[in-house]
Amino acid sequence: MTLTRIRGGTVHDPANNRDGVVMDLWFRDGVMVEGPGPGELPSRTHDASGLVVMPGGVDMHCHIAGPKVNLARKMRPEDHREAAPVRRTPITRSGTAGSVPSTFATGYLYAGLGYTTAVDAAIPPLAARHTHEEFHDTPILDKAFLILMGNNYYALKAIAEGEYERARAFAGWLLESSRAYGIKVVNPGGVEAWKSGWNNIHSLDEEVPHLPVTPRMILRGLAQASMDLGLPHPVHIHCNNLGLPGNAATTIGTMEALEGRRAHLAHIQFHSYGGEVSDQASFRSDVPRLADWINSHPEVSVDVGQVLFGSTTSMTGDGPLGYFLHQVTGRKWTSADTEMEAGCGIVPIVYKEKSFVHALQWAIGLEWYLLVKDPWRVGMSTDHPNGASFVAYPELVALLMDRGYRRDVLNRVHPRVRERSILQDLDREYTLQEIAIISRAGPARLLGLSTKGHLGVGADADITIYNSDRDRRRMFELPRMVFKAGELVVDRGEIRAESRGLTWHVCPGYDDGVLPDIRRWFESYYTIRFRNYPVDDSCLSGGGAVSPCDRGKRNP
Ligand SMILES: [Zn+2]
Repeated sequence: MTLTRIRGGTVHDPANNRDGVVMDLWFRDGVMVEGPGPGELPSRTHDASGLVVMPGGVDMHCHIAGPKVNLARKMRPEDHREAAPVRRTPITRSGTAGSVPSTFATGYLYAGLGYTTAVDAAIPPLAARHTHEEFHDTPILDKAFLILMGNNYYALKAIAEGEYERARAFAGWLLESSRAYGIKVVNPGGVEAWKSGWNNIHSLDEEVPHLPVTPRMILRGLAQASMDLGLPHPVHIHCNNLGLPGNAATTIGTMEALEGRRAHLAHIQFHSYGGEVSDQASFRSDVPRLADWINSHPEVSVDVGQVLFGSTTSMTGDGPLGYFLHQVTGRKWTSADTEMEAGCGIVPIVYKEKSFVHALQWAIGLEWYLLVKDPWRVGMSTDHPNGASFVAYPELVALLMDRGYRRDVLNRVHPRVRERSILQDLDREYTLQEIAIISRAGPARLLGLSTKGHLGVGADADITIYNSDRDRRRMFELPRMVFKAGELVVDRGEIRAESRGLTWHVCPGYDDGVLPDIRRWFESYYTIRFRNYPVDDSCLSGGGAVSPCDRGKRNP
């Protein structure tokens, strides 16, 4: 029952309307409390006078575990050699850094930036057990993952046959069996078509050749299932046609196809392009039109997938996209097929300032942050490692908070970007409060993690304390102190303790009348027996934490 005080910090806690309030914060046993009991003295006090205090960072869309991250680690030994390794200390293990760090390094590097929660956005359920084991080896962070369902053969078949209840029950069973947090849709239908030997799908109403189901049907079915199952986070969508000129029309079409259902659109930067597919030179930003749509539809949120210049690794559940990137970059490429569930593609990539396409992608990402009026609905992301590594977040903060710096970079990059985007006309500068929203308070709210992203009574004592510094990149690169569940884990850049972190998952309940049919399906088509498929709680890192999903609910 140790009571700790953080004394006199300047607190940015947007969820509790604290915007630069100088105050004491208190926590006991890892949880924020109102203050000391009568006559009680804190066992420990940390002086935060003159320092900036925020909740721990929450990354709502990244790729830190699972099959494609491991494929990328194996495929890119040069990536490990280029970056300085994380050294072993009496507390930490060693690890490789770069765009696909090892599990341990991932935990240390995130914590070193003040992040305490991260959500992997694309795990094939078949790899859930392995993913939980990797989470176990990814220290400090609380973690969760979303399962890929937009090309899951069983789900697509149920939707194609008009059996929505069966699709919903299957989704509930799959979430519970994999101890997952939510439903992810990647290039709905397109991956299944492509990996079965047909072409990718490019229109919302094009049928998967061997299944009478369209992207529109998949989107509606899984968005509805996420809502009916009472999931804390709505369906998380990677639209069709990622990366192609003119794909903004598909993105608008996707949002309209949802017909008012709640949804989160991932790495929206990669889906915001004007121009013609047949003419790469026509490539331009279409963000103003899309941001207007978001501004007038509160049921839809986005994270950006910001591109920042440098070397990284593209990894996606969108198999045909991996092939497309291999074709346009000429770089090495891996593709994989996870049985009846998903695909993936991996390609190394170097984003260059002088490349018209890369520089325009950089500008388009920034347009998103600057054009969406409500920061609560824009999650800060680089789609780690697709647009850049998460370690580049401080650079992104500097770009958002300082229009002079932004202009300097804009004047350096490929000149045609100034004609094809409106970035040079955008004067908005983010405040510290808005940075606190897009990097912790907003993502926590969008994920439905009620004890994350804020510092009110009952919240997890995940706290990041920064030096106040006009050089925002320096400020966000090296927090002064980071607490995770009340434990001081980082002090002046040194890892001081290595906690394990919890895994968040949902138990939405489902109609178990569906089980005999799922069993038949598994015994016929999977390489794993039905009874061996579900993950049990013993696999969860540091014990599991069930999300605020309605656990008792069973659908009739
Ligand atoms: Zn992603």
